[in-house]
Amino acid sequence: MSIAERISSLKEGFPKSVTLVAVSKTHPIEAIQKAYEVGQRVFGENKVQEMVEKSEQLPTDIKWHLIGHLQTNKVKYIAPFVTLIHSIDSEKLLKEVNKRARQNDRIIDCLLQIHIAEEDTKFGLNASEVMDILASDKFMEFENVRIVGLMGMATFTDDEAQVRREFQQLKSLFDQLNNDFPSTENWQPTELSMGMSGDYELAIEQGSTMVRVGSKIFGARDYS
Ligand SMILES: *Cc1c(COP(=O)(O)O)cnc(C)c1O
Repeated sequence: MSIAERISSLKEGFPKSVTLVAVSKTHPIEAIQKAYEVGQRVFGENKVQEMVEKSEQLPTDIKWHLIGHLQTNKVKYIAPFVTLIHSIDSEKLLKEVNKRARQNDRIIDCLLQIHIAEEDTKFGLNASEVMDILASDKFMEFENVRIVGLMGMATFTDDEAQVRREFQQLKSLFDQLNNDFPSTENWQPTELSMGMSGDYELAIEQGSTMVRVGSKIFGARDYS
């Protein structure tokens, strides 16, 4: 199947309201162009330098999403153009994004990354850390960031019941935060970014609004 065919068959399988983030990390410009030609506009990258280089060579109406761990000293490179940062995992990082957004005279949309997987290798905040951020005075002063929801990655396992449970847990935290923290200028949670190639169907079933799909579109990644 071609990239175009894979995108259209994916999209047939889920509701129009779910945003498809085509995760293009490690794949060349030509692959992104093929997806662009069939109307795909949202692309996800996990490395700052790769995203910057690709963005310079591709059409400016692409919406670039940063999905991987972000170091504070690299925020400045993506601040001028990034559409959504999925991986905010500390108040310190959020503060830096706010500062760089202000310098670029824009508001940057962000998701708080929540740790839901069993493995401790995955980055993210736990429920109480999220609540601490949302309740803090500092957060209220961040005028150049807008938290539009949460992101999470399930454990990499064949155990469907476990993956479903982890997605459920994230959805219920999302609902709870929506309930406990009324929306403000910089807290407008509508998006729940969960689901990748192996588990996007489960994620959508559990309330995902945004799936990040790489290998199902572009094929296996070659890290060599
Ligand atoms: C690589 C990556 C994906 C996409 O993974 P696939 O299994 O190829 O779909 C999704 N989310 C994050 C955070 C990633 O790093």
